[in-house]
Amino acid sequence: MADFGFFLKKARTINLSHADMRKTEQLLNAVPSYKRCISCGGCTASCSARQFTDFNIRKAHLYFKRGQYDRLEEELQKCMLCGKCMLVCPRGVNLRSLIINMRQILSNTTEILA
Ligand code: SF4
Ligand code: SF4
Repeated sequence: MADFGFFLKKARTINLSHADMRKTEQLLNAVPSYKRCISCGGCTASCSARQFTDFNIRKAHLYFKRGQYDRLEEELQKCMLCGKCMLVCPRGVNLRSLIINMRQILSNTTEILA
């Protein structure tokens, strides 16, 4: 096969009907501005932590929204809470609060699942 210098990833299917959305609902109640997110990626493009790590804040909040929490708690520790992403967000999402709440919700699993 010819080498074009890139490859196409296999398509992924996520069945949201089977996902537990309780944590997402809790996050949306705590940070209502997140409902306005359009997943544009502006936050990732401006992220200070991204200059030193592979942290991707858009991916992190998108995975949380979909109920995919694998290694997310660890990933969110890369954020320095500098707030730079909030300055560029075209939808006025309160990203610092979003990150703090995601961390809190993930560390309080037993309380949420009760
Ligand atoms: S910049 Fe704002 S609207 Fe764009 S992905 Fe980030 S949080 Fe969502
Ligand atoms: S608050 Fe966190 S996610 Fe936002 S720019 Fe700073 S390090 Fe990146």
